[in-house]
Amino acid sequence: MKSHPYWWEHAPRETTKPVSPPEKVDIAIVGAGFSGLSAALVLARAGLKVVVFEAGQLGEGASSRNGGMVGPSFHKLGIAGLTAKYGKEKTNEILRESVGFTDFLEDFLRVEKINADFTRKGRFLGALKPAHFDRMEKQFEALRETCGVSGKVIPHADQASETGSSKFFGGVVYDKDGGLHPAKFHNGLISNVRAAGVTILAHLLVDDITRNTTGFQLTTALGKTNATRVAVCTNGYTGPQFPELRRRILPLRSAIIATEELPSELILKLMPKARMYGDSRRIVAYYRPSPDGKRILFGGRATGIVDNPIKNARQLRQSMTDIFPELKFNATSHVWSGLVAYTFDHAPHLGLHDGLYFAMGYCGSGVARSTYFGQKLGYKMLDQEEKGHTAFDDIPFQTKALYSGNPWFMPMVLNWHRMADRFGL
Ligand SMILES: Cc1cc2nc3c(=O)[nH]c(=O)nc-3n(C[C@H](O)[C@H](O)[C@H](O)COP(=O)(O)OP(=O)(O)OC[C@H]3O[C@@H](n4cnc5c(N)ncnc54)[C@H](O)[C@@H]3O)c2cc1C
Repeated sequence: MKSHPYWWEHAPRETTKPVSPPEKVDIAIVGAGFSGLSAALVLARAGLKVVVFEAGQLGEGASSRNGGMVGPSFHKLGIAGLTAKYGKEKTNEILRESVGFTDFLEDFLRVEKINADFTRKGRFLGALKPAHFDRMEKQFEALRETCGVSGKVIPHADQASETGSSKFFGGVVYDKDGGLHPAKFHNGLISNVRAAGVTILAHLLVDDITRNTTGFQLTTALGKTNATRVAVCTNGYTGPQFPELRRRILPLRSAIIATEELPSELILKLMPKARMYGDSRRIVAYYRPSPDGKRILFGGRATGIVDNPIKNARQLRQSMTDIFPELKFNATSHVWSGLVAYTFDHAPHLGLHDGLYFAMGYCGSGVARSTYFGQKLGYKMLDQEEKGHTAFDDIPFQTKALYSGNPWFMPMVLNWHRMADRFGL
């Protein structure tokens, strides 16, 4: 079993050596994932001198490791939770903007001419209990009314057209959701960002940042860079260099397995419409066919914050074969993982904090959102407030007393959710 992302076999990572950074730039961006690269594109095309620092290889973070599932990523609080927190008007604004994220990404890929195997076959979410079905149906109807989300409710009796699993009590199809090959997207973005004149420096950790009279000085092992403005786009990898952002982020590890190549009739039986899939459990699980339709990729929460491929593969196989017992005798070919960033209010955030621009906290749903927020951040850094505006602008980026970035309590929280899943709560 290979312990690198299945995606990297078709979109390999570059093998570059670290080089010294430029002495002076207009903009320094920390993190070469979708957020940082998308911001860099806007800023460089506006004529600014931009450098992007990446601590690892290009695509080290979540952006080339994810499930490639694209959708509105509706706020985890649901309509009722959102309304209680922000009021009706703000809730509607957030949901209407969210429902456009997939269109945004589709347009972005077309305009940027990036071939990332993007398809829009929709997403099926299965109900694991009859009560979950009722809740999912209500949630879907409420979303349809509030922001016009497109889809349909699938009663238990009709679900065989959607899934070969007999675990579900019906479900909902969100028919405008899509899927892509994340590493191809990441590589395409890298090419366009470079073509726009950006210097991207891999294997160069920003290990300190201080203010000076003209902006900031960033320190790396190979030299210092002075930048007028800095964007921190480090999401689940936000380190102690940025303590004020780190204490607002809850890093969690998410992992995926890929099966060996499967007979086409089997894939067709299990995933007849080749959609993206998920279900109603609390501890997220997400699954899909590979873009070539030959394998099934199955993802979920990893066993801990430290990567443990063997344990992750075992746990995910168990989850996968619970849903699709037919896969019991098929080998797992790949297992890999990466870090996502949760936030205390379950919302992504962007803006300016202590002089540093930032975009992060996508709560595990960031393929479209990080690209979108990165672009918005770019406009904000250009002082183009109208283009940079989003409904998420004025939501406070919360932390909790005594929290400094080590989510020691998360294993307990996750175990509680696992237990709730087991009892169908
Ligand atoms: C296994 C997995 C599955 C997922 N599945 C999905 C999915 O199906 N759909 C979806 O919408 N989202 C999914 N996500 C989430 C999505 O991938 C992320 O939200 C998104 O990629 C975040 O992009 P980013 O650019 O903000 O951060 P990242 O891509 O994580 O990039 C941050 C980068 O910052 C670098 N960095 C950190 N500190 C420094 C420093 N001091 N100096 C230099 N560089 C630094 C890191 O090395 C890292 O490469 C998944 C994530 C994972 C891990």
